Amino acid sequence: MVIQDPGAVPADLPVPADLPAPAAVPARAGLPVPDVPDVAAGEPMRAVVVTAHGAPAEVRDVPRPACPPHGVVVRVAATGVCRSDWHAWQGHDPDVTLPFIPGHELAGTVVEAGPEVDEWTPGDVVTVPFVCACGECDACLAGEHQVCERQTQPGFTQDGSFAQYVALDHADVNLVRLPPGLSPVTAAALGCRFATAYRAITVHGRVRRGQWVAVHGCGGVGLSAVLIAVAAGARVVAVDVSPEARAAAAQLGAEVTIGPDDDTAEGPEGLDADARADAVAKAVRTVTGGGAHVSLDALGSAQTARASVMGLRRRGRHVQVGLLLDGPTPLPMGRVVAWELELYGSHGMAAHEYAAMLARVVAGELDLDRLVGAVIGLDEAPAALAAMSGPPAHAGITVAVP
Ligand SMILES: [Zn+2]
Ligand SMILES: [Zn+2]
Repeated sequence: MVIQDPGAVPADLPVPADLPAPAAVPARAGLPVPDVPDVAAGEPMRAVVVTAHGAPAEVRDVPRPACPPHGVVVRVAATGVCRSDWHAWQGHDPDVTLPFIPGHELAGTVVEAGPEVDEWTPGDVVTVPFVCACGECDACLAGEHQVCERQTQPGFTQDGSFAQYVALDHADVNLVRLPPGLSPVTAAALGCRFATAYRAITVHGRVRRGQWVAVHGCGGVGLSAVLIAVAAGARVVAVDVSPEARAAAAQLGAEVTIGPDDDTAEGPEGLDADARADAVAKAVRTVTGGGAHVSLDALGSAQTARASVMGLRRRGRHVQVGLLLDGPTPLPMGRVVAWELELYGSHGMAAHEYAAMLARVVAGELDLDRLVGAVIGLDEAPAALAAMSGPPAHAGITVAVP
């Protein structure tokens, strides 16, 4: 167990060479002016195609999708490479049928709108939640679009945004207009990881100034949570096996970072998974003076979920953000009862909730640019997906520009 307490974190912790937003992508540079004519429905476009789970994806020409009557087609300006894409590629998600185009974190420009769409026209610059809601089911009528009963998800239930164009359903319900000048590279994270972290911290976690927030797993959604919690005035303890991820969390304001001794996912030898989780949880309770008020499993595994719950203080709140797609996840319900813990599932954020978050981004309170770790081309996306099977080569969000 490596714990860096406040005294041990140097103020000028070195930045991993590939963490900051690359100089080639100026922050808030705005969307590039299209310099090529748009591709018509059925005409060839470049896309990343998965034909077999776990086998290398191919970049090739496929027909541009048609526009749904209630939807739009968006020219993709940037698309994030998310762990959910990795799960889909691996075959963990039952909604996915082969072959498919991954990708659900996108920013781009509307090029075609269906006849039933009232609010959007070609030229509008948009992003979209990864859950595209129907707008009509009981959940949607209650405003809870993120758990829509008839949701569609680009990259899962239909082709996604690892492509030059993507079709999106029910545009009037789901599209979010991007503020002028917001870089598409940074905006790409809004549709999934940043928005999910924002809602986990603000709605589920109800984090208040001075409270301790533990974040287990400091990939894209975890680092987003660190940034948002710090902006809320919380004290953050960040847990990750990767030293680069821990350094990135410290850069974003995490007061304490915790990792295993040997920096491998297995942790100290001789301990089973529950014991390793409990060792992490004990370290969290120690540095927070009794446990975190709010804790997120931002990775999604039985071990990180248990560590998150066990690291809480009495009446604490656990938010399960990372997808748990590899089987049942036993949790210590005895502790949940005895300490009156609250457990929340998190599934993104409805489009109608974006305005408040975007206002804070535009005001400079939440600096998304700091979360971007690498910008790649579409040709590199298959390798970026495959790289998620191992430890991350760099901290922060990887964004592909088709
Ligand atoms: Zn995602
Ligand atoms: Zn619905």
